[in-house]
Amino acid sequence: MSEKLALVTGASRGIGKACALELAKAGYDIVVNYAGNAEAAEKTVQEIKALGVDAEAYKFDVSNKEEVDKSIAQIIEKYGRIDVLVNNAGITRDGLFMRMSDENWNAVINTNLSSAFFVSQPVVKVMMKQRSGAIVNMASVVGVSGNAGQANYSAAKAGLIGLTKTLAKELGSRGIRVNAVAPGFINTDMTKDLDTSKFTDFIPLKRLGEPEDIAKAVKFLAVDAQYVTGQVLEVDGGLII
Ligand code: NAP
Repeated sequence: MSEKLALVTGASRGIGKACALELAKAGYDIVVNYAGNAEAAEKTVQEIKALGVDAEAYKFDVSNKEEVDKSIAQIIEKYGRIDVLVNNAGITRDGLFMRMSDENWNAVINTNLSSAFFVSQPVVKVMMKQRSGAIVNMASVVGVSGNAGQANYSAAKAGLIGLTKTLAKELGSRGIRVNAVAPGFINTDMTKDLDTSKFTDFIPLKRLGEPEDIAKAVKFLAVDAQYVTGQVLEVDGGLII
């Protein structure tokens, strides 16, 4: 077991999985949170263990405060500390604003924004005792620029950016840094049904991002950037310059 622990939400697949592997390469033991895909989570755990650190999968719904509280308490009981938290789990329920159902609004706000409140609160408590810690919130470029058809998602991601800056101000004196990464279009299950070929024309770097592109930025903010807090790093191939 390493002396450093990172908790990555939504780490069974996509960007979260890449973040978990990148932090494992930096020597962190990893808690791999997931919602339901146990097979993918276990595969991630095995890939992390192959890098020589410890890893364990924890199934909990980040939008459910009771489940979050119970699981974080178990994690703290077992490992005694949390050094890095990546609030990554997220979903989309796209649709035009005038046709958006309450259900799709609430699902996205709860899973993408309230989750960061639920997960960060007990984690910050332990980070305050440690007098150290780093949180990286997974925002999106649409939280900065807005996007037609994504009122719920853009609002949640903009909210995460506000939360990031506020927590950076509140927690800096306790040795806790809080930053956000705002990805553009990244090749994952979330974007697999989009016709992304039409977007590449608008991306200066002329390609979609890969989960590893985001993971490197997350590792930079969580581990290397010790004098950086409250920042939103756009990792989007130049999409919203
Ligand atoms: P993805 O491939 O769809 O993976 C989503 C991950 O989140 C999975 O591990 C899933 O677990 C987990 N998850 C979903 N709902 C959850 C819940 N209620 N509780 C716990 N875990 C939950 O998504 P992705 O593309 O990697 O996106 C990851 C993050 O990056 C999201 O916050 C997304 O908004 C953000 N982002 C993505 C893009 C992009 O282009 N892909 C762009 C900007 C921002 P299971 O495997 O168990 O379902």
